[in-house]
Amino acid sequence: MTDFTYAMGTDGVAVITWDVPGKSMNVMSLQGFAQLDGHIDRALADPAVKGVVITSGKVDFAGGMDLNVIAAMRDQGGAQGIFDGVMRMHGVLRKIERAGMDPKTLKGAKPIAAALPGTALGIGLELPLACHRIFAADNPKAKIGLPEILIGIFPGGGGTTRLARKLGPMMAAPFLLEGKLSDPKAAKAAGLIDDVVADPLGAARAWVLAATDADLVKPWDRKDYRMPGGAPYHPAGFMTFVGASAMVNGKTQGVYPAAKALLSAVYEGALVPFDTALKIEARWFTHVLMNPSSGAMIRSLFINKEALEKGANRPKVPDQKVRKLGVLGAGMMGAGIAYVAAGAGIEVVLIDASQAAADRGKAHSEALLDKAISRRKSTPEKKAEVLARILATTDYAALSGCDLIVEAVFEDMAVKAEVTRRAEAAIPSGAIFATNTSTLPITELAVASARPAQFIGIHFFSPVDKMMLVEVIRGRDTGDLAVAKALDFVRQIRKTPIVVNDARFFYANRCIIPYINEGIRMVAEGVAPALVENAARLVGMPLGPLQLVDETSLDLGVKIARATQAALGADYPDDAVDDVLFWMVDQGRAGKKAGAGFYAYDATGKREGLWPGLGEKYPLAGAQPDVTEVQQRLLMAQVLEAVRALEDGVLTDIREGDVGAILGWGFAPWSGGPFGWLDILGAARAVVLCDALEARFGPRFRAPALLRDIAATGDSFYGRFGPGARQAA
Ligand code: NAD
Repeated sequence: MTDFTYAMGTDGVAVITWDVPGKSMNVMSLQGFAQLDGHIDRALADPAVKGVVITSGKVDFAGGMDLNVIAAMRDQGGAQGIFDGVMRMHGVLRKIERAGMDPKTLKGAKPIAAALPGTALGIGLELPLACHRIFAADNPKAKIGLPEILIGIFPGGGGTTRLARKLGPMMAAPFLLEGKLSDPKAAKAAGLIDDVVADPLGAARAWVLAATDADLVKPWDRKDYRMPGGAPYHPAGFMTFVGASAMVNGKTQGVYPAAKALLSAVYEGALVPFDTALKIEARWFTHVLMNPSSGAMIRSLFINKEALEKGANRPKVPDQKVRKLGVLGAGMMGAGIAYVAAGAGIEVVLIDASQAAADRGKAHSEALLDKAISRRKSTPEKKAEVLARILATTDYAALSGCDLIVEAVFEDMAVKAEVTRRAEAAIPSGAIFATNTSTLPITELAVASARPAQFIGIHFFSPVDKMMLVEVIRGRDTGDLAVAKALDFVRQIRKTPIVVNDARFFYANRCIIPYINEGIRMVAEGVAPALVENAARLVGMPLGPLQLVDETSLDLGVKIARATQAALGADYPDDAVDDVLFWMVDQGRAGKKAGAGFYAYDATGKREGLWPGLGEKYPLAGAQPDVTEVQQRLLMAQVLEAVRALEDGVLTDIREGDVGAILGWGFAPWSGGPFGWLDILGAARAVVLCDALEARFGPRFRAPALLRDIAATGDSFYGRFGPGARQAA
């Protein structure tokens, strides 16, 4: 396969074009790198070549490194394999940067420019950063940056070292530490690239032909180089690093190895010459890749997330793209669903019981679009287009021609049955009917449907416009066509789907409830609420359990507890939790929306601190547990529920269990998800831990048979249930 082609122009400019066959976006592979290397050698050796332009044959320049290659490098070569591979890559990029220059006189290099037609991410920016000048097309849709940190690694193709030296550590920080992406104009303003032009290839060509020796020497290759903003032992630089360390630890709580390693690479690299700094970067990069957390994050947040988005579990039926969507119920969820669908170009009929309620639902889209315009993320024209796609009405006849309905009316069996019947009378016989229920069984709701094979759950999370996960739930009678329809819809609105089977609370809520409950239980035991909350945050949960229940509301918790109690009868395990929960609601502390919950809130609704009154009712125990024990309880409560969901057949693919956990409720992303966490811990250790927790705290921590079996056979979850194992089975 030819990823890079070489064409010599009559003007003496060699154009190297990156165009990976069969892909819509260029990604870098080892083979691609070898081809690029060969072309650079050829251009540098050919006296007829005056200069080189590296560009892309696609709409965009490149999406980054093929992360499967990184995973393979680690699996096959271990640490030495990664380090050697990365150093070879540095060798090629450094060759481009020096381009045949005499190291003493800094003369005689051939100009090499990058011409970016569109998006340039990861190695897609690191390669241009090694060139002598970067031209980007004036394409506001293009994204330029180094997003590696977001999937648990850092820019390891020289991007860290080059950007820190080009911009200075302070100015480089948002790009390196936060993975900030910019459009070409903003990237130029920040100093990431050099020129934004209508025709980057033409401009790069002209520049290459006119460039002088002085244009080709990077600042860090000059004797008088000083790091912008000051190196670490400069007073200003010192302050930057002190601040950055504190900030990184504050943001990551110390659980993301990549951010810390990146800072170390920048700090240590700043003290030595450039080529040594690259070696240091490569060592830290290897260190991060050898940490099981980075592998787990890449697997869940990139490889598996993408596989699910591309339909890994989609039944093999023809395209089911939605053309006209009916949304029943224009409340918080229905209004959000209408907004994301209309934004994706789908015509929407938004129905509520009164015209005023339907209009309020549509006004939600208007408000979100106005906000987007004020942030320059949308335009008045776009707003008009999106709003024109939403018809707010009470008239079910308007549903005629809808190929998908999503119902989001009150959480009430009878109300839902009624709207199901009314909608089905108006829609074509082939249409699919979905419910957004969070607690009612899909199979029971399907009883109201005249065509249960076309009835399915599509469960969104709140707020719909922000939350990226959508749970698709198969009822007992749900057919493949309905599953495909739901998945194609989720793809249209650019969210990530998981497909689960019908059972109490489906998957995400089933796991999050025990997390909240464990936190509340500890309050009842007299564990300091601050310890509970901080232990959760220190293990990578975005919100402690008490803050989380404040956000989702305690009266919803009471409602769920009552329904669960009714369903389980004598087996109901959560009385200790309910003591606290019911008492709190009796005190008028229903959570954030009530301005009072486990936390106190000021008049504007801003969270102040934990509510001291809690301690009067539930005084602190004399002996407090250590932070690790609290963390083990909080994580195990969720993880064991995920294992049980797999055992019960609610989950059929552990990739969905992991991706769903991170996107759905923010399960410690550094771990790659509950199954990723168990694999990092090791099943045998997990069983020992469960046995100890069960002995002290009761049967909710009993190790599920599946976990015991995996431990007994020395297996892992991904070893047994990962995609490779599934194919082999
Ligand atoms: P909501 O009370 O904000 O909205 C419900 C809307 O349905 C109201 O506007 C109401 O007027 C309308 N409605 C009621 N009866 C109707 C009828 N017969 N015909 C037409 N419209 C009718 O509730 P919500 O929070 O948007 O929840 C809706 C559904 O989504 C529920 O099933 C809920 O369980 C589920 N859900 C909620 C969340 C959440 O976080 N709130 C998350 C996931 C799923």
